[in-house]
Amino acid sequence: MIKADEEQRKTVSVYAVRIARLREKLAAAGLDALLVTRPENRRYLSGHRSPDPSSATTAGWLLVGPARAMLLTDCIEYEAARQQVRPLEVVQAKISLREAMAEALLSYRRVGFEESHLVFGTYRFLAEKTQGEVELVPVPGMVEELRIIKDESEHAAIRKAAALTDQALAHVLAGMRPGTTEREVAWGLECWMREHGAEGMAFRPIVASGPNAALPHAGASERPIAAGDPVVIDIGARLDGYCGDLTRSFCLRKAGPRYLEVYRAVGEAQQAALSTMRAGVSGKEIDTIARERLMAAGYGEAFGHSLGHGVGLVVHEGPRLAQTSTDVLAEGMVVTVEPGVYLPGWGGVRTEDLVIVRKDGVEVLSGALKEPVIKGVEA
Ligand code: ZN
Ligand code: ZN
Repeated sequence: MIKADEEQRKTVSVYAVRIARLREKLAAAGLDALLVTRPENRRYLSGHRSPDPSSATTAGWLLVGPARAMLLTDCIEYEAARQQVRPLEVVQAKISLREAMAEALLSYRRVGFEESHLVFGTYRFLAEKTQGEVELVPVPGMVEELRIIKDESEHAAIRKAAALTDQALAHVLAGMRPGTTEREVAWGLECWMREHGAEGMAFRPIVASGPNAALPHAGASERPIAAGDPVVIDIGARLDGYCGDLTRSFCLRKAGPRYLEVYRAVGEAQQAALSTMRAGVSGKEIDTIARERLMAAGYGEAFGHSLGHGVGLVVHEGPRLAQTSTDVLAEGMVVTVEPGVYLPGWGGVRTEDLVIVRKDGVEVLSGALKEPVIKGVEA
């Protein structure tokens, strides 16, 4: 019991720290409060785990001011929120959520709202109800800026999601045989992850074979996978809200010389990037290192996307490892490193690892084997 109490105190303090850091940002931006409508941001600040049923229906909104932080919900979510949201005040809207929020906004003068995560109809309603009293200010990504550096509890959750993702891949690859369709492989991966504790998928699994492997974000089709086909599998489990993200590429049973050459080039580009990563290095620098390697190997044109992205409560978040990135790596960030080569009509290779940025390097979380050829089940 004592241990459970301690755990609970720790959890409460995590959210209290996050709210305190948000308040510093609010003060610096000259805002009296922030209206938080993005579900992942709500979860990050309050611990309220319910997702939003749809973009027009919410499981609750947060309003964080200098002294008061409250979660406003309806009667459906109230009890669950009251149990999950320990450090915050939980308020049940009597008539409608929008009415109650408009009333709560009137305690402030300048209130920020999440410009990419507030439905226009709701914005218009709140603006009309508070006209002349409250200035509603669009804010691009204040909570996202806090989320970019992960704490120990987040590292633990991501580590678990990454391990589960590794295990799912190992399990399914061991059972693969020529003739299995992409969709069967994707379902096998999803089933395994769900049966072993995943609360869902971090994103729609990609299983792309043959020419489909030349499409970086292919889904999974009815195409049967033949021996010798290039295959790209990109998957991630979601656990305790946090995402895994892993890509492995291989040929089933046998690989031609061209495949092995492309595979080696991608692997070397990834290794070059990984070995230069540490706190203080910019996202652009790391992308450049991998890109130059692939250019030197003759595949510069075939690497169209950026090298990597942050992973947390959302599978694509900051920082970005890209030519257009202004982010600088800092201790505690969690990012992917995923160079790829895509040759239309032929296929592609992408290798993706998930890492935690440390002071002097990175801690690689992905443990899945990197092999250009896998055997699968002997037919
Ligand atoms: Zn991925
Ligand atoms: Zn990724």
